[in-house]
Amino acid sequence: MPTKPLDRLLFVQGGLCFFCKQPLPRDSASIEHLLAIAKGGANGDDNCVACCKTVNTLLGSMSIKQKFEVVLNQKGHFRCPNNTGHLPPKPIAPTAPTPIVVAPKPVVASPTLPKSAKPTPPKPTAASAPKKVDRFAMVVANLKTRGNSRPRTLKTLTTTVTALFPKGISKAEVAAIVRHLQATGKVKVEGEKVAYQL
Ligand SMILES: [Zn+2]
Repeated sequence: MPTKPLDRLLFVQGGLCFFCKQPLPRDSASIEHLLAIAKGGANGDDNCVACCKTVNTLLGSMSIKQKFEVVLNQKGHFRCPNNTGHLPPKPIAPTAPTPIVVAPKPVVASPTLPKSAKPTPPKPTAASAPKKVDRFAMVVANLKTRGNSRPRTLKTLTTTVTALFPKGISKAEVAAIVRHLQATGKVKVEGEKVAYQL
């Protein structure tokens, strides 16, 4: 246990000023008598705190009541006067790492070139439209070759068109082709019966 009163008080206070709770170097520290000796205060640890010299000077021989007032007026964020000596200059450090994190992003920007190449996918969609035309042309060509063996009903026509696409075709697509056959006048539907004009 430190024997000198100031060392003892600093040890008990964890090396911090009693009032502002900032790290308190021994050469900036002094002993404050809460109840001033001039007012009958004792010299023991019960009446003494280690604090910044500046606040000790300020409090001087104030009454306990006045000292309470000074402390309470700080509203829990007590800063000893002119205690810049042991203020940590930390705030500058955190800002530096962030630009380094931002820096890699421009590297990610190079993938934007492939992205600009992605607008090319419209080409496949443009190709899919010809596909439908191709399907329609395929159906017409197939019906032409059938001659008299063409499907006679709407139902068999649908089945025939579906069978032309062994890799799979949706009912909606088949229906669209049949509608298009009618729209182009190549097929005439009367009730369930189908007539051709290919
Ligand atoms: Zn202090």
